[in-house]
Amino acid sequence: MTITLAIEGSGFTSRTRDDVQYFDHSLFLIDEHGIIQSVLEPDDERYQAERAQAQERGIYHAIAEGSYLLPGFIDLHVHAPQWAQDGTGLDEPLEVWLGKYTFPTEAKFADEAFAHKVYEDLVSRMLSTGTTTASYYATVDRKGSLVLAQEAVRLGQRALVGKVVMDDPEANPEYYRDASAQAAIEETERFIEEVAELSQSSVQGVYPVITPRFIPSCTDEALRGLGELAAHYHDVAYIQTHCSESDWEHGYAYERYGKSDTHMLHEFGLLTDRSILAHSVYLSEEDMEVYAQTGAVAVHCPLSNAFFAGSVAPIRRYLDAGMHVAIGSDISGGYNPDLYGAIRQAVTSSRMLETGVNRDLAAGERGVANSALTLNNAFYVATAGGGESLGLPIGRLEAGYAWDAQVVDTKFPSARLPIFEDNEPTSDIFQKIVNLAVPENIRTVWVQGREVVSK
Ligand SMILES: [Zn+2]
Repeated sequence: MTITLAIEGSGFTSRTRDDVQYFDHSLFLIDEHGIIQSVLEPDDERYQAERAQAQERGIYHAIAEGSYLLPGFIDLHVHAPQWAQDGTGLDEPLEVWLGKYTFPTEAKFADEAFAHKVYEDLVSRMLSTGTTTASYYATVDRKGSLVLAQEAVRLGQRALVGKVVMDDPEANPEYYRDASAQAAIEETERFIEEVAELSQSSVQGVYPVITPRFIPSCTDEALRGLGELAAHYHDVAYIQTHCSESDWEHGYAYERYGKSDTHMLHEFGLLTDRSILAHSVYLSEEDMEVYAQTGAVAVHCPLSNAFFAGSVAPIRRYLDAGMHVAIGSDISGGYNPDLYGAIRQAVTSSRMLETGVNRDLAAGERGVANSALTLNNAFYVATAGGGESLGLPIGRLEAGYAWDAQVVDTKFPSARLPIFEDNEPTSDIFQKIVNLAVPENIRTVWVQGREVVSK
């Protein structure tokens, strides 16, 4: 093991889901694999010697006063092709939005040059706002989907990438669907192999994801076949899909099977410790137990839910039930590619759930008690919680974790944060950063020890 990077700086990392730890001029020693080997505090006996040695070797880097280190963010639900239509159509209901905007957009990504242009832009944009890991839906087209995995590897983002499966001729437009269940399964398997191969040349990791769009767009044959692939490739591939997003989707599974979509995904072999389940808004107590027991993660997409879900996912209850919870931008069901926005929206939505919003009801009858998330809770979900849910050593600035980090400059001239006192409590600085930082404040980003953004 060789130390190849030494960073001295102050900043914040989640200790538990409720507590954020402040560290003051810690010295992070990072090895050639991009892993934090040690974190030394200024009173540590090795601190001075290690710092002097790093300076001598030209690998020492100090974070300026007024700038703070945070772990990179983990966005576990992104429809990458929808970046091309981001911000549009959100005043339409979901089925209109899908048919009029989304499917025509996604169909364009069979053109690899177009895919390259959009994916390069999206990955760069997300890195520049501190998102160091993302789980992406690409499109039905396998080759176009591979472009996304290649761009993430090239630009240095840790990515989970899925070729989307939607094979049911009854449910999907003819111009945009898999040719058959068999073709969908074969193309998925080929995609898994191709991404696994690509991962050999990636330092930060790129992972294939088995991606049935959601139950309503797939035949039982496809779902069963993908479940078999999930078992066969358990250690190689993740699984992602939408689960219990809206009244319609949730009700659909009951109509088709007489059971919840959680139950059916489990039965098809698609709900395991590798499953990334977007939205998960309408889970019953029984569904929640299945999540907790399998280790599947519920990905909270609060902005998208405000447009399309019809209610607010009870994230506090999920955490109390021992479920893994992560956060997602859900580009472009949610328009904001910046995970700071998702953290803020998670807090806002949870407070509205707690108080209720219909002023015609009495205050005591309006809301759902004990629903509010703190900013610390939401930050945890966007960092350490997301990392734990994937079983990867990411999301914390601690020894043994990957050096995925972002530097937030609170004094950047055009985006200065309102910090005026020399002795401002660090917890206030943390809250100002998370609530007020804009992309300009984020100056440097590393993934697995590699500097991928330097503004
Ligand atoms: Zn989605």
